[in-house]
Amino acid sequence: MSPVTINLTLPGYRILRWESNLMMRVYVEALDAPRLCACCGGGRLRSKGRYQRRVRHLACFGHMSELVIACRRYHCVDCSRSFVQPLPGIRPGRRSTEPWREAIYERHDDGICASTLAQRETLGQATVARIYAQFTERKARERLSLDCPRVLGIDEHTLHRGQRFATTFCDLKNRRVFDLSPGRSEAELAPYLRSLRGRERVRVVCIDLSNSYRAIIRRWFPRAKIVADRFHAIRLVGLHLLKLARQLCPPLGWNRAWLGLLRTRGDRLEPAQRERLARLFAAHPVLAGIYELKEKLHRLLALKTQSKSSCRHHIRTLLGLISTLRDSGLEPAVTLAKSLAEWTEEIVRMWRFTRNNGITEGFHRKMKLIQRRAYGFRSFSNYRLRVIAQCG
Ligand SMILES: [Zn+2]
Repeated sequence: MSPVTINLTLPGYRILRWESNLMMRVYVEALDAPRLCACCGGGRLRSKGRYQRRVRHLACFGHMSELVIACRRYHCVDCSRSFVQPLPGIRPGRRSTEPWREAIYERHDDGICASTLAQRETLGQATVARIYAQFTERKARERLSLDCPRVLGIDEHTLHRGQRFATTFCDLKNRRVFDLSPGRSEAELAPYLRSLRGRERVRVVCIDLSNSYRAIIRRWFPRAKIVADRFHAIRLVGLHLLKLARQLCPPLGWNRAWLGLLRTRGDRLEPAQRERLARLFAAHPVLAGIYELKEKLHRLLALKTQSKSSCRHHIRTLLGLISTLRDSGLEPAVTLAKSLAEWTEEIVRMWRFTRNNGITEGFHRKMKLIQRRAYGFRSFSNYRLRVIAQCG
């Protein structure tokens, strides 16, 4: 043999010889022959003869390569069954090695589309799809054996086909999607939650201000503290107060320029915008009060990493604002006051923590892209596999 050695990137084989043509063909044999029966574990084996197995392997010097493996079939004297020799790095019945399959998976995952990849590697497109499914399924299976993360973000999103809902469970600490489950009601989620391991160890769950999710968490994550999501809380305030503004000042209507000004945070206003806002307040003084209230609530809800003592101070401010809203007696303000009062505890926890469902919302955007790229999914399990592979 020539002094040049080829690194097979597949341990457990001895190279016998190789031929290099358009296809690099390497003849090898496994280093270890089986000593025990694969079926009964008996040690009395008899060889039934040799055969060759050809499998695709990683490209070598730019050429496609193939391993030609000298194998044997064995007969077990104890249980009188026959079996083929197990080979390291090659699964039973496969015509390619695991490193090669993983390389195909990674290239497809990196964004090379199945048809291009299939053409370059002289494969069928279905083979690429099958390899991809194999690896994503493996990843998703590992997920099932994993314990539930300690800091969870739970939120719903829609599947465009049939307008179905799905719930995302996001690992906020490690910033990745933990799992998906179809549906958003307790009845739909119960089978999944029952199978979830390590539920009782979940410490923090971040949710939007949804009563149904709160009930689910109280029941299924007994030791978890519920934290309100900052984005949703702030949006709720904006929504109700804008409704109130429209009710008290009908000329506001759907005037986008004015609504935009009222929505913008005070410290983000340009000088010109500030002037326009001042003119608006001069014409409709009632808006000034609502804007000030909105600013106060936003400032309060945007707080994070507060100490316990400062939280106590902020609670008093929040309760004061809630009672101001309630005392106004106007419908949108009372509704807002009711929601904030119901969620006070969760909002206070929000001041103590930094993580929020912004991470989950970001993944939802990515999931929408996955849905679009696939032109929708018929099967939820395929969708789940894709999401776990790309966001997990
Ligand atoms: Zn046997």
